[in-house]
Amino acid sequence: MSDLRRMDIQYLTGVGPKRAELLNKELAISTFHDLLYYFPFRYVDRSTIHHVSELNGELPHIQLKGRFFTFTVAGEGARRRLQALFTDGTGTIEVVWFHRIKPLQEQLRTGVEYLLFGKPQLFQNHYSLVHPEIDEYKPNAGPQGLQGVYNLTEKLHSRSFSSRTLQKLMGNLLNTPIVAQIPDTLPERIRVKRNLMPLAQALRNMHQPNNVHDLQRAQFRMKYEELFYLELNILRYIKGSNAKQQGFIFSRVGDHFNNFFFNVLSFELTQAQKRVIREMRRDMGSGRQMNRLLQGDVGSGKTIVAFMATLIALDNGFQACIMAPTEILATQHHETISQWAATIGINVALLTGSTRKKERDKIHAALRDGSLHILIGTHALIENDVRFANLGLAVIDEQHRFGVAQRAKLWHKNTIPPHVLVMTATPIPRTLAMTVYGDLDVSVIDELPPGRKPVTTMMKYDENRQQMYRFVGEQLKLGRQAYIVYPLIEENEKLDLRALEEGYELVQETFPHYRVAYVHGRMKPAEKEHQMQLFVSGQANILVATTVIEVGVNVPNASIMVIENAERFGLSQLHQLRGRVGRGADQSFCILMTKYKISGTTRHRLDVMTRTNDGFVVAEEDMKLRGPGDLEGTQQSGIAFNLRVANLARDGQIVQIAREDAEQWLQHDPTLASREGRVMDTELRHIFDKQELWSRIS
Ligand code: ADP
Ligand code: MG
Repeated sequence: MSDLRRMDIQYLTGVGPKRAELLNKELAISTFHDLLYYFPFRYVDRSTIHHVSELNGELPHIQLKGRFFTFTVAGEGARRRLQALFTDGTGTIEVVWFHRIKPLQEQLRTGVEYLLFGKPQLFQNHYSLVHPEIDEYKPNAGPQGLQGVYNLTEKLHSRSFSSRTLQKLMGNLLNTPIVAQIPDTLPERIRVKRNLMPLAQALRNMHQPNNVHDLQRAQFRMKYEELFYLELNILRYIKGSNAKQQGFIFSRVGDHFNNFFFNVLSFELTQAQKRVIREMRRDMGSGRQMNRLLQGDVGSGKTIVAFMATLIALDNGFQACIMAPTEILATQHHETISQWAATIGINVALLTGSTRKKERDKIHAALRDGSLHILIGTHALIENDVRFANLGLAVIDEQHRFGVAQRAKLWHKNTIPPHVLVMTATPIPRTLAMTVYGDLDVSVIDELPPGRKPVTTMMKYDENRQQMYRFVGEQLKLGRQAYIVYPLIEENEKLDLRALEEGYELVQETFPHYRVAYVHGRMKPAEKEHQMQLFVSGQANILVATTVIEVGVNVPNASIMVIENAERFGLSQLHQLRGRVGRGADQSFCILMTKYKISGTTRHRLDVMTRTNDGFVVAEEDMKLRGPGDLEGTQQSGIAFNLRVANLARDGQIVQIAREDAEQWLQHDPTLASREGRVMDTELRHIFDKQELWSRIS
């Protein structure tokens, strides 16, 4: 294997120094190994021969067999072209070339049977083929199967270096003994378990597949391999850093939990909620510290799950805390949870920046003597003077507002770190979460409680603003509340603030009989809280705001979310904003206001929003549109993504099994010291040393 990485591409039959330089510059291919791993971006089927008479509508690449009968050169300058007529007995089609006219004229003959391969273009009712691939037809060669098509650059094309040229070089490469006998990079045990094609065979089928089935198996093998090494690398890195933390063992499920579950809980938990609770129980009973990320779309019922986790801590004689990113959220959690807690006689308190000194002192004392069971609050929870008697579980809501450092600070509140449950409604595709948040296990609530009415999402142009206002007016008349959100970005802050203010005035003029609250991030915190509270308490009917309301606010009576300049928001942000409505029994609406002229991708983004309410679908679309490197959170993770064949958005199941296998392997061979482990170690170094180098350069 390492040999191939050292073999200079210029020594491959058919390459030589000139082509080597071209390959190097244009495709970053400088060794045998590079070329071998330069995979086709798609495949075409050359096993079927079509008839000219059948051509109809929009066509993919097709293959024709027949003869040329005239050649003419037409046009001047850039439009100069060679035209030929080609017939297969069922009809005639025009074939056109703009380059290499002279050599083609010399090479092609009438009367000889050829196979043409290309994508027919329809122009004024006539089909033509431009620059098709041409082979002399050899009756005994038999039909060709699937053929790989490679991505090439303009420059390569202009040097007459085509996909076909690369295919030929690849053929030469695959026929060298060293490639045919390439040793496998995955251990036999895993290959057998996952029924993986051997490496040499997979590589051959990636380039020259025997048939669709073999191609799929080859792709599976290559994707698996790529993801296996990615996971192996992450797991090793984790093991090396914050290592196998010891954790409290919560072995009992006791009175609090059971009493609440059987006697108090007024609704049936969803299957997903039950599953997550089971997963947490297993973690917390294992002797290892739980470090779990709980993802669930807005309204999926994370709070009750968190509360039941705190009950397990209590049943085992420990305290718990729940930390939220804003005072409003912390207050809401406190209200909900104290109601539940009161029914089973446990003590809950709220601690935020605005908690009075007297109350604060009381809380501190009760924490230390253990009489306070659950503390809910904001960042105030991680102040140094907050000391627990025995903190066993920390729940962190809306995690993206808290950094790793803050999480670590909670751990230091005890010699053995508490179990940690991190909850987020920003749905990161599971596959990405597993790779990005490598240090967290992931649970997902992928089911909403029954009876929810999905939010109806509509797109409206600015020209129809009056119509939108009429609609909002009707909802207000029914006693509902409405959000109207404006974008605000730093680079554009002055203009954005002005638009926001003008919007605020316009809304006040339009709805003179309603109270309008007004919030943006540049306000003083106290004023912000005050305005928010007006809306939360129902005193204000409309809230005009920037995205400061994005996270977690719960006003079930709000049934309308208007998003101004929706074209300026990202998908996940739009989804977060939409999640503020649809929390009560009423039908809710999200109206995306946009200017008329928007780009294709923007329209696609807004279409996704009107089409689905499912946060995971939105997140996957977001990832497809932007690429994983662009998603929130991936930047800080420090993990380079450079995948050739696998796709995190689409290959979730392979990520999962690759991770399982990597985990299992490391359990038996943690330092990769076994014979097969050493092969993997070398492979890891090849893959990731190179990538690190890249990330340092760019
Ligand atoms: P989120 O996941 O966004 O934090 P919440 O925990 O605030 O969602 O739950 C939203 C609402 O759904 C709450 O009023 C909660 O009591 C309710 N709820 C949660 N689970 C269920 C369930 N299984 N059946 C019915 N209602 C539920
Ligand atoms: Mg919540």
